[in-house]
Amino acid sequence: MASASAKLTASPTPPASDAAPGHAPALQGEWWVELMGWVALVVFIALPIFTYVFEDYAGGIVWTIVIASLPVFIVLVGYHRWRRICPLAFWAQLPARLKRPGTRKAGPWLETNYYYIAFSAFFVSLWLRLIATNGDGHAISAFVGLLSLTALLFGVLYTGKTWCNYLCPLSFIEKIYTEPHGLRETPNSQCVQCTACKRACPDINEENGYWKEIGSRPKRLVYYAFPGLVFGFYLYFYLQSGTWQYYFSGAWTRQPGLSWTAFLPGDVPWTAGFFFLPVVPRALAAALTLALWSLAGMLFFSQLERLVGSWRGTRRNDTRVRHITMTVAAFTAFVTFYSFAGAPTLRLIPWVHQLFRILVVATATLFLVRRLPRTPQAFAEETLARNIVNHWEWTDVDPPRDLREAFLIHTVRTRESQRSAASILEGYKNAVRVALADGFVTREEVQQLAALRHQLDITRADHERIMSELAEEEQDVRANPAGQVLAASGGYAYRMPAHSTATASDSSSPMEHRTTASSDHSALGRP
Ligand code: SF4
Repeated sequence: MASASAKLTASPTPPASDAAPGHAPALQGEWWVELMGWVALVVFIALPIFTYVFEDYAGGIVWTIVIASLPVFIVLVGYHRWRRICPLAFWAQLPARLKRPGTRKAGPWLETNYYYIAFSAFFVSLWLRLIATNGDGHAISAFVGLLSLTALLFGVLYTGKTWCNYLCPLSFIEKIYTEPHGLRETPNSQCVQCTACKRACPDINEENGYWKEIGSRPKRLVYYAFPGLVFGFYLYFYLQSGTWQYYFSGAWTRQPGLSWTAFLPGDVPWTAGFFFLPVVPRALAAALTLALWSLAGMLFFSQLERLVGSWRGTRRNDTRVRHITMTVAAFTAFVTFYSFAGAPTLRLIPWVHQLFRILVVATATLFLVRRLPRTPQAFAEETLARNIVNHWEWTDVDPPRDLREAFLIHTVRTRESQRSAASILEGYKNAVRVALADGFVTREEVQQLAALRHQLDITRADHERIMSELAEEEQDVRANPAGQVLAASGGYAYRMPAHSTATASDSSSPMEHRTTASSDHSALGRP
């Protein structure tokens, strides 16, 4: 198994904070994340005022500095930290902070198709940039204000992080650049008062959400369309003016009032729809360009997926094939974005531009190298391993960060202490029970963890016996749900598998999911 050679490491999980969602009090050692959250919020509030008053600088600062630095910032700080910093999330969670949270939940249609919604919101935002907000400070103020109000409205009406998870135009971008997990391990960003707003919640465990959703058709299409959309957006500057100089000079960041001509035929480069067809209104030309390039991206990466599938001799919807293609799509989008973003301002100081490019390429390459070999089996193995380490019983030695080493110590010490092999089996059984109950691994994935069993000297027959005992336990719990917390063994309380029977989204009681979510957080510490 590919994961067998991977080095497994663990780190303690800081406890969740007691605050409402939003800018929660600092987790241990993470005070700067909270500070950055407040700084980001101040900037976010000041921005529309600044862009309204200083129109000449508005487009340059917002688009070529703030927005341009966002993806690399998210990748470097990590998904969960960004989720605690994001100022737009603050507005969406303000009602919860004021003890007036919304109570509605996303319906089944939204749950299935939310990638389309977020992508459409992003598509419209880019289109608005091309016809109105690129160089108009007043339009930028209106756009930021409207976005904040929409987030707030969803916070008033809907529970949890419905806005962040389902509707925010950035929601799929922060995932595509950071999945399946970040460059470094970070505490997660789960809400303390979990209301089960999202199945396989990425705030609880991003990688769990990634593998659970990897077969999703909306996700696949959006991830494949995204690099095309990014390229189409920047290409449009050329298609409009007939020269790349228009984009790289930054002239487009200083065009107040340009929105008034968006639906009219143009006659000069900055009002034309296409330089070769100025009579087409900009609004139509921009929408066509974005749509066609999104389609091109979708077709290109679908073909790539087919190629990867035939290269590996498997079906195109095989998990590994999908993972490889999505990884390449994310890398392409990132590199395409940074071939353009920020350049009009960064070019003013050439050495800074060079330095920034090196940082971006290094970050993208590092992420690619870490992401490509990752497998669901490695995730399952790690999940199970953590459950053993999290119940470390040797008080004279701390559990090593290397999980394999921890297993070794655990196994040797158990033998040395003359304890029967039964205690190893019991520990294994408990770890499997918790992992299944958390919903992070399936029975099929547990079956594939042969390397792990080998380390623990667990025979296949013992493993099969344990699995059938756990299946019986599960049946008992289903027959008698009230007894689920009573089925404790060795300090592990049995819980219903989160996504086999009582899923996050179909749980009628917030408390049901809360139990699961808390365990996700405390047992694993995995972002
Ligand atoms: S599922 Fe729970 S933890 Fe996740 S975003 Fe929704 S409320 Fe927060």
